[in-house]
Amino acid sequence: MKQLLILSGKGGTGKTTIASAFIKLAKAKAYADCDVDAPNLHLVAGNLPEPKIDDYFGLDKAVINIDLCTSCDLCRSHCRFSAIQKEPIYAVNSISCEGCGVCELVCPFGAITLVPTVAGELVLYKNDVIFSTAQLKMGSGNSGLLVAEVKRGLKEYANDARISIIDGSPGIGCPVHASLSGVDLVLLVAEPSLSGLSDLKRIMETSSLFNIEQAVCINKYDTNSDISREIAALCLEREIPLVGKIPFDPTAGSLVNRGLSIVDEPCPAGKSAKDIFQKTMTILLNKGGGKE
Ligand code: SF4
Ligand code: SF4
Repeated sequence: MKQLLILSGKGGTGKTTIASAFIKLAKAKAYADCDVDAPNLHLVAGNLPEPKIDDYFGLDKAVINIDLCTSCDLCRSHCRFSAIQKEPIYAVNSISCEGCGVCELVCPFGAITLVPTVAGELVLYKNDVIFSTAQLKMGSGNSGLLVAEVKRGLKEYANDARISIIDGSPGIGCPVHASLSGVDLVLLVAEPSLSGLSDLKRIMETSSLFNIEQAVCINKYDTNSDISREIAALCLEREIPLVGKIPFDPTAGSLVNRGLSIVDEPCPAGKSAKDIFQKTMTILLNKGGGKE
């Protein structure tokens, strides 16, 4: 299975818009949304079957057995994360708790234990296609581990698919690192703004650390022609193929708001996306065998 990951370095660049267009154009049998903090690919994925939903357990969290607690205050005074309250009874705030285990260690009465805690949901849509995604619970960490689980689900159920398309997370942090692992090509969606250019440089560097081949497309390129030219020059300098530019197109926004992709109806953005898709697939499919 050849894996294409779509990243942007920041939110709001049109990454999911491109991903949903590619899924339609490729008639993809396997795809995933790794933006586990705010997944939204399902909103533009068309008709989906009822999903299979499983709890995802993150780090263990501390729980106080109030029957054993003598209110000695040792746990609260040792907690570096201010996660323990004393009023009206000693209790742990599970959102603040980082699961470090210090409180369990210092409690003289064995009143504290670390217990597995649900940190999110793994969601798998499965019929003639496999769509793997997840939603992290508010305040939970370990998004990278959850992304790894999303990709594991994709591989487990759709490893015989020719290609898979993965909508990654914004930024350059832990979930992005987890999405990058094992992919064959990263398509970076750039936005022609000062912050967009800076974010593009950061995500290029992050992807390079994983030694993964990259390609770039510019969304809404005509909203700032000067910076679009800078992005093109950057690609040239770093020998990264610029596979196309999408114009600002109000039709694109209205299609997405109707739960459609930009290639579902004729529009300038959809036309450019088709061209970018062809060029991206040529790079992806001409690479050596898919990674494990
Ligand atoms: S250290 Fe143990 S006994 Fe002391 S307040 Fe905390 S839970 Fe209660
Ligand atoms: S496990 Fe660590 S973070 Fe959580 S309540 Fe105990 S000391 Fe605080």
